[in-house]
Parts: sequence; structure tokens; C-alpha cells
Amino acid sequence: MNMLDKRTKIVATLGPASENPETVRALLLAGVNVFRLNFSHKTPEEATLAIAMVRAARVELAVPAAIMADIKGPAVRLYGYSKPMAIETDQVLLIESRPQEEIERLEAPAGGAYTNLPDIDRLCAIGQRILLMDGYFAGEVVGRRPGGIEVRIGNPGSLRPKAHLTVPNVDYPIPFLSDKDIRDISFAVEKEVEYIALSFVRCATDIEEVRRLVARSRTESGARPRALLVAKIESARGLASVDEIVEAADGIMVARGDMGVEISVESVPLAQKRIIRTGYLAARPVITATQMLESMIESPMPTRAEASDVANACFDSTSAVMLSGETAMGRFPLKVVETMGSIIRAVEKEFDYEGFHRSVPPNVRSGDLPAIMSYNAVSTAYQCGAAALAVLTETGHAARLLSRLRPGMPILAFTRDETVYNQLALNWGVVPVLLPKPYERLEEAVAMVGEATLAAGAAKRGDRLVIVAGLPLARQGTTNMIRVETL
Ligand code: PGA
Ligand code: MN
Repeated sequence: MNMLDKRTKIVATLGPASENPETVRALLLAGVNVFRLNFSHKTPEEATLAIAMVRAARVELAVPAAIMADIKGPAVRLYGYSKPMAIETDQVLLIESRPQEEIERLEAPAGGAYTNLPDIDRLCAIGQRILLMDGYFAGEVVGRRPGGIEVRIGNPGSLRPKAHLTVPNVDYPIPFLSDKDIRDISFAVEKEVEYIALSFVRCATDIEEVRRLVARSRTESGARPRALLVAKIESARGLASVDEIVEAADGIMVARGDMGVEISVESVPLAQKRIIRTGYLAARPVITATQMLESMIESPMPTRAEASDVANACFDSTSAVMLSGETAMGRFPLKVVETMGSIIRAVEKEFDYEGFHRSVPPNVRSGDLPAIMSYNAVSTAYQCGAAALAVLTETGHAARLLSRLRPGMPILAFTRDETVYNQLALNWGVVPVLLPKPYERLEEAVAMVGEATLAAGAAKRGDRLVIVAGLPLARQGTTNMIRVETL
């Protein structure tokens, strides 16, 4: 794959339609940068196989790619029936609370269901709106009894087992992490995946709790745990606390699927714009997710509305766009990635990068040298017509600071650290390059960066290259140099 031909990154969810070595390789070549494993639907054995496939493919093709473990989080579902339940208009369904630990083993009486949401009768007044199966069924509470509610459902259909239950605008009194989530996070750290995505994040404390858990978990290799945390914004609580969540997390996701039912579908477009902006201002990668090319699960061509949706997320300056069912269980996993790539490239030909840079507040605290240097590096690159930006980075931070400004020229990020190399696959406009050896002397490093930029096809001889680095080299947090090289 040519990492230079698109700047907005693609996250693809693996599943039965794509979880084989050939498809993973083809997806990587077609432009997938991050592979998501959805732990709501995966056993550790399946995840182990999928992780091995991505690792083998990225090594074989010598391209960076990140693996993202997506953790279920405090989801509220219906249990107690093992086959789809036929629902008629105005049918009254009795939903009762049961403890999470035993709920999967219990069978509810006919016409009833259980939920892991405790004390549901106390959370819901008569008249409270209730949504089932991601909003497919809409109903209202018509009766309450100890530990249960009666919901009159307004439309007919077939209710799937373990369907989502949504009580809009109500805070769920359940812990952020279940025992399963804790096991899944420990597993993800053990396998040293690059990113852990957390569903239904409500506040900064949720992220801090996971950070502590990650820090005390063990990795397979014995190395220090390095997984970066992506907060999925998909509830009213999460959206209200988006500023502190972005500060506490390493990245953020506009999780439009659940957001559309937890808040309301009409609030999604504006929330998307706000979350993306909060993310790039704070130099955090932002992923826009769910139903981007949904109709391609079945059809070889997207709807025009979907093509516009992917394009508009790019115009909003998202770092990445995500595919869920489209690549996990759809009929055209490869075609959908190619389609997404073409839409992205079409937008990127027209985007006003320099205007974006001018409009983004420098947003740097005085004395924050890396932020000041990166801002001025991009200004310098425009002023001298540079073909590319190059950054020597130990932690990836300096590269993310450049990415934040969405520059029109590629950002080649040179690192010796394989984890950083793969993590940076998610960041907008960043082309990670793994350094074969450490560099002690500046002139040596500059020569190497110049050669590698030419070799990558990011510039030609005679072009200018703006290099951002820290002296002394290979020390973190010391970005203090901008150098303009004529290749
Ligand atoms: P999910 O998250 O696919 O794990 O539910 C994304 C979303 O809700 O949009
Ligand atoms: Mn979700």
C-alpha cells in the first residue's frame, strides 16, 4: 500500500467476513490502518488468532498497522430468552432486573425479559421512553412493580436475544468495568495491542481507572504496558464531559451507533463536529464510527448519502473513519475499503489545508516547546513550499502535534520504537517510518531522513523538507529544532 495516497486513516472491524490471512493482507494493501476487534463478540481464542493474523500481515508487507481491542463497557441488554421473540404492536413486555453474574443462565417467563440494569423500577417513571434493539423498538413504561417495569411497545417485529435496552437520558447505576471487561483489558495488555477502546465512557475517572488497570497488568514479553486508550463517546453523560474525557484519554471515538439511541439521532451530526474539533485541538486522534457505508454490507455500491457522510467526516477533519459490520460480516469487505479510500482521496484533493492551519488557534501554553515548534514547523513548511515534514519522535507526541494541524504535506514520523511506529498508523497524515538504528549525530540523522523521504516518494531531489527534532537526539520531550533541508 502507498501510505502517501491518503491522509485520513481507515479503521476496519474484523469478523467472520474478514478474519482470514488473505483478507487481512488484502485489507491492509487496500488502505486499512487499524484493525478493530470487538470484544462484545469475541472469545480470547478468536482474538488471539486475529491478532496473530494482523501481526503476520504487517510484518510481511512491512507496513505499520495498529490493533484496537474494543471493550464492551457498561452496556445494558435484555436477557432471559434464547430465541428471537415475536413482538406485536402494543404488546406489553415485563422487564425485570437480575444480577449480571447469573443473568446469562436464567430463563424469563413467556412475554418477559431480564436486564442487567439494576433497580429498573426505581430508574423509570410511568411514561418514560424505552428503546429496544438499538432503537428498532420504541415503547413506554406503563406499569411498575418491585424490580420490574411493564413496557408497552409501539411497533411489531422480532426482538433478538441480548438486544440493547436504552433508557434515554438516564444514568445507569452500574460499574464502568464488569469482570469480563477487566479480563478483556488484561488480555489486550498481555497481547500488547496498540489501542484499547472503551465503550460508554462517562467521565475522566473511567479512563483513569482503566489506566491503573493497564499499568498493573502484565504483557507477554515482560515489557512495560503501552496500550493507548480511546474513549468512545456514546451517551449523554459522555458527551457532557467530552472536554475532560479528551484530556484524560489518548484518543476518542464518535460512536454514532449507540449515541443515536442514547441521546437522539438528530444530535449526532453536531456532536460529531464538536467531538472532532475537541479532539484535534488537543492533538488526540478522533475516529468517526458506525454506519458509514452500512448498505455495502449487502450491496456492492454505497448510497449517495453514505458517500456524503464519509466525505463530510473528512471535511470535519476526523483523523479516521471506521467500518463495523461492513468489514466484519458484510459481503464485500475489500470493496468497501476501496470505496472508502476513493471517497477520502476525492475530498483530500480539494481540502483547504492552509486555511485550516490559519484557523486553528495555536493553542500552546507558553513554554510548551514541542507544541510551539510544531506550529511553527507547519508555518515554515507553507512559507518555503516544502514537499514534506519529517519528525524524529521517541513517543509519537511530536508527530501528533504536527498531525493536529492537518498540514497539506505528508508527515514522515521517524521512530526507533516499533510500538510507536504501529500506534501512529491511526494518526491523520502521519507516515510512520521505523529507524533501523539509533542516531547520535545530527548530520547523520538529517542525511538518513532525507534519503528515506526520497525513497518513500514523499519528495524529489531539489525539494525542501522541514525537519522537526529534539537535540540531543533520541531523548524524549525535547523537541527544540526546526531545520529546512534542500534535498
Ligand atoms: P460499537 O460502538 O460498534 O462497539 O457499539 C460504536 C458505536 O456505538 O457507534
Ligand atoms: Mn457502541
